[in-house]
Amino acid sequence: MERKVLRTVTAMMAALTIAVCFVLLNYPDLHVYALQKNVEYSAKRTAGYSVLDLMRDETEILKGNAQDERLQKQLRLELPEGVAYDDVEIQNHYIYQTITIRIPHIDESYFYDYPMIGSCDHITDITFETGKDGGVISIVTDNVYELDEAWENEYLYIDFKNPRDLYDKIIVVDAGHGGNAPGATKQGVSEKDIDLAIVKRLKHLLDESDQHIGVYYTRLDDTNPALEGRVAMANNLSADLFLSVHNNSTASGRMSSINGTEVMYRASDTSGKSKEFAQVCLDHLLQRLGSQSKGLVAGDDIYIVRTAEMPVALVEVGFMTNQEELEKLKSSEYQSACAQALYDAMMQMLEVGNE
Ligand SMILES: [Zn+2]
Repeated sequence: MERKVLRTVTAMMAALTIAVCFVLLNYPDLHVYALQKNVEYSAKRTAGYSVLDLMRDETEILKGNAQDERLQKQLRLELPEGVAYDDVEIQNHYIYQTITIRIPHIDESYFYDYPMIGSCDHITDITFETGKDGGVISIVTDNVYELDEAWENEYLYIDFKNPRDLYDKIIVVDAGHGGNAPGATKQGVSEKDIDLAIVKRLKHLLDESDQHIGVYYTRLDDTNPALEGRVAMANNLSADLFLSVHNNSTASGRMSSINGTEVMYRASDTSGKSKEFAQVCLDHLLQRLGSQSKGLVAGDDIYIVRTAEMPVALVEVGFMTNQEELEKLKSSEYQSACAQALYDAMMQMLEVGNE
């Protein structure tokens, strides 16, 4: 009860402070404004406001103040004294719809010493962690965004750009498994590593491409993002294609003579586009690899195939349980040929890059 009263009083104090700030905004006395800001933030944090709550209030205040139009669309962070631009590390973790900003020498007091202000329209959560050499601010967004960063004086402005406005086409490439989910492991070789090796070679081709294509990867390291997150990224991006790279093994997991390439598609896709994409992938793979065709397979019982809302193809390049194919899959030549086939297949589907 006492806590509740305290919270109410603090909240009222905070409201009063906001009102005072409002008035102060009309006077160009920035020093007074900054001091007032600190008091207001301290009061709100005592009252249990989260960093995002603080940001939301800022956005509301800004909406009522037409003076700074820029801040109504962007996020602004202030660099603490003694910290240079180059010391700040910004990373966009697309798969987690999270942007991390690492700033040296800060602790939680950063948020009221240097209030982060601007638009929080696309932000669903902000968290803070103190590490050994500073703090990491994690900004969770409501979708996948590209960041437009601008440094001006001691300020960092961040604009959230919709990838759809930046690229003609968007594709999502998924390397199967990862982390503590190795997939099939044969003779010391894990499927996750071969899947990733192929995707990295494919990335190299896509990076070199001069097409205006936005490419998003579910993983480029030995991590295992949840299947839900992998599909959500593709669906949230409204990707034009979703390619998942895997390798096969026999049901028993025993070495056998069974070999060849197969591609899964979503049978419930009434447009037939998923099946078309799978067929194009299969054709290119067979041609480049000279592998045996295991044909197309309806993959609706596989989560990512079933839930992807765009043309999806899940390729099983070869069998890790076939000695000859395993040797090939381990070779850089075979991985490169596979990457080239998948690159050509995607370009054909997108109807771009036909030389
Ligand atoms: Zn797999």
